[in-house]
Amino acid sequence: MFDVLVIGSGASGLAAAVSAERAGARVALATKASLQANNSSKAQGGIQAAFADDDSPDVHAEDVMRSSHDTANPELVSVLTGDAQSAIHWLEELGVEFTREDGGYRLARCGGATRKRLLQVGDRTGHAITKQLREAWEAGSGESFVNAPLRELAETDSGWRATCGEHVLEAGTVILAAGGRCYAEAEKRGELSTNHPNATGEVTQIAIGLGAESRDLDALQYHPNGGAWPPNMQGYSIPETTRAYGAVLLNADGEEFTDSLGPRDQVSQAIFDEVAKGKGVETPDGRPAVFLDTTRIKKDDAEISLPYMLRRYRGAGIDPLREKIFTYPVLHYQNGGLVIDTNAETTLEGVYACGEIAGGTHGRNRMMGNSLLECVVFGRRAGQAAKEKASA
Ligand SMILES: Cc1cc2nc3c(=O)[nH]c(=O)nc-3n(C[C@H](O)[C@H](O)[C@H](O)COP(=O)(O)OP(=O)(O)OC[C@H]3O[C@@H](n4cnc5c(N)ncnc54)[C@H](O)[C@@H]3O)c2cc1C
Repeated sequence: MFDVLVIGSGASGLAAAVSAERAGARVALATKASLQANNSSKAQGGIQAAFADDDSPDVHAEDVMRSSHDTANPELVSVLTGDAQSAIHWLEELGVEFTREDGGYRLARCGGATRKRLLQVGDRTGHAITKQLREAWEAGSGESFVNAPLRELAETDSGWRATCGEHVLEAGTVILAAGGRCYAEAEKRGELSTNHPNATGEVTQIAIGLGAESRDLDALQYHPNGGAWPPNMQGYSIPETTRAYGAVLLNADGEEFTDSLGPRDQVSQAIFDEVAKGKGVETPDGRPAVFLDTTRIKKDDAEISLPYMLRRYRGAGIDPLREKIFTYPVLHYQNGGLVIDTNAETTLEGVYACGEIAGGTHGRNRMMGNSLLECVVFGRRAGQAAKEKASA
């Protein structure tokens, strides 16, 4: 019998597991494949937190509410932005080294933001965060169950019983951190997705089957800048930091047809509309696209904040600092999910949810850089609250 069982080994599950274990709980973590297999490791762009002199958690919260078109839950947003600085310092204590300049963090402005607020670790931010969380988890006393997908969850007299692969695990409380479903959804629609193949959404359905409330599950987000050419970059999410560092979207006539740093849904829609008007371009294999003019990015900025993206494109024979690249929106993120309170508890007592599987923090339209933040902020809260409830 464990105190806390965590389902999923992305940033949110690992943050929850580390927090519960450090609070003194006996923790099990069960995940579908290896500990490394998740969307979190693929995140490149960065993580938001209000550190700039002209910024504050309140301004950050206003940006989130506006980008969500006032559909986010203000209480959750206030937790997200209010806990952001402490989440960043916690990650630093675990060994994450954010890119710095002039004695402070190197901050970029991301789509929908009114201030420079995006911290980065080069363009491998999710990889760096997940790696340090995983090392912290593996250094503790918790037990990992890999290749152990959750198949069934049932309430017992003393908590919950979960069938995870071939294991039957009992715990006082459960934290669902199994991510979103955009990989499965893209397959169903015959579209490209940025997501890892494990992003299939069955854990959300298990919770709903037990009576958990959900919200905004129909609101799926397109990343405005999927790679459209060459073939090995199709479905790649071109980091939004390209636009933060000066790249702009251009139509076939070389005109800027939208605010390249607008909220994601607006930028994606503007690209769809431009192509529908016949003002898009076609990739060499006949796919719809527009141009992202990456030649406007300064070489120094690109080398510090986009080295991975440069390496991938150059490896495919295209230098984004010398030529414009083809882009088109691609299925990326599940905005909605299970309803949670400020401690990440779902409407099922003793069942918590954090990360992409949870809904409310972004409403129907997430800002870039707030998902990794949500994973850490609500993962930590879930871990602590689940430990407390299990020992009560
Ligand atoms: C390419 C890409 C780039 C991104 N860039 C950014 C960025 O720059 N900034 C930002 O904030 N966000 C970004 N995001 C979004 C963000 O990375 C994710 O939303 C977030 O990391 C999700 O974390 P998670 O812990 O909720 O889920 P995941 O990281 O997806 O982890 C889910 C875990 O659950 C496991 N799992 C799934 N089903 C089961 C099951 N049945 N049983 C057990 N385990 C299961 C999976 O194997 C995995 O380990 C990006 C996403 C992608 C795909």
